[in-house]
Amino acid sequence: MKWLDRVKNSLGWKLMISYLVVIVVGVVTLAVAAESVTPAAFNRHMLGMQQMMMGGQMSMQQMGADLFTNFRAAVTEALLVSTIAALISAILVSLFVSRRVVNPIRQMMRASRHIAEGHYHERVQVVSEDELGQLAQSFNQMAAGLEQTEAMRRELIGNVAHELRTPLSTIKGYMEGLMDGVLSPEPTTYQQVYREADRLQRLVSDLQELSQVEAGAFELDCQSENIAELIQHTATRLRPQFEEKGVNLKVDLPSDLPRVQADEDRINQVLINLIGNALQYTPAGGRVTVAVQRQSSEVLVTVTDTGIGVAGEHLPHLFTRFYRVDKSRSRAGGGSGIGLTITKHLIEAHGGRIWVESAGVDQGSTFGFALPVAKSVSCN
Ligand code: ADP
Repeated sequence: MKWLDRVKNSLGWKLMISYLVVIVVGVVTLAVAAESVTPAAFNRHMLGMQQMMMGGQMSMQQMGADLFTNFRAAVTEALLVSTIAALISAILVSLFVSRRVVNPIRQMMRASRHIAEGHYHERVQVVSEDELGQLAQSFNQMAAGLEQTEAMRRELIGNVAHELRTPLSTIKGYMEGLMDGVLSPEPTTYQQVYREADRLQRLVSDLQELSQVEAGAFELDCQSENIAELIQHTATRLRPQFEEKGVNLKVDLPSDLPRVQADEDRINQVLINLIGNALQYTPAGGRVTVAVQRQSSEVLVTVTDTGIGVAGEHLPHLFTRFYRVDKSRSRAGGGSGIGLTITKHLIEAHGGRIWVESAGVDQGSTFGFALPVAKSVSCN
């Protein structure tokens, strides 16, 4: 029944009904008590009067006055007893009702105190579907969110410590070697130390950027942009590195592309990450192709390489921070496994989406992203 559901889901209705129950219980007790007490009280008072009448000490006038007094005394007595009974039953019912309302709130209070003390696994029981039940549900959601954030924080600190440890111990090793005279003070030794310090610096700035994008603490300066121009710009910038490694870079740009709503610097950063990765994970003699096409209200950009590819089980994790398929290989290239995570956040902040496809190891891979055509969505 619809109205029954409405009452079940509304604390307001439940409170109103509970007030009514208290009133009804009070009134019924009052009536029942009055009904049972009145005859006995009346009889007692009448008996007293009868005895006086039989003694013959009463005039007619006095008898009328006494009758009234006795009647009033009987009614007052009945009212007093039944009021006390009604009061007691109303208090008992109110206690029961208010307990039912207050108990979940008390439980939430206790749980929030526990959470504040760091016990993030704490949850409350959801016993109703009304506002209190919804509050309990929201509370549990909040607790789950906090628990997840806390787990991520711990994991992040663990990852950062791990990432910092390797270059730091390498630098320390070199310095100890130099101090003990095991290593000779040659330019190559200093270059190694410099490279590790450079890696540390990059890692720290990546981390800073990651924390910003993960917290959504960055602003996009969106303009209507020609994506083809942005791709050309990045390709020109990276071409010398492609030539140096012997990888062919092909850019396939149709002439009638719509403009996109984008932050030029951020999209350049995304393109550098994707095209740079394609170069890093493609051996000499391979090819990287950047293609663009329009699909309904989106512009799709794909970066396809003929490189090392990605095994199926790794694909869903590539955008997770610090995830690297081959840690030593990625680290050797200066990778920290943060680039794709930042890229994903940047694309999503533009109202776009990003994906990866690969047929498997040594089958190459395709990283693609879609941006909304200008004006269809404005980025934040
Ligand atoms: P990294 O700085 O380590 O390259 P990314 O976040 O950019 O970090 O990439 C995460 C991981 O995804 C890399 O370590 C690598 O294992 C994998 N990856 C990224 N791009 C490619 C690609 N084009 N081909 C194969 N694997 C890739």
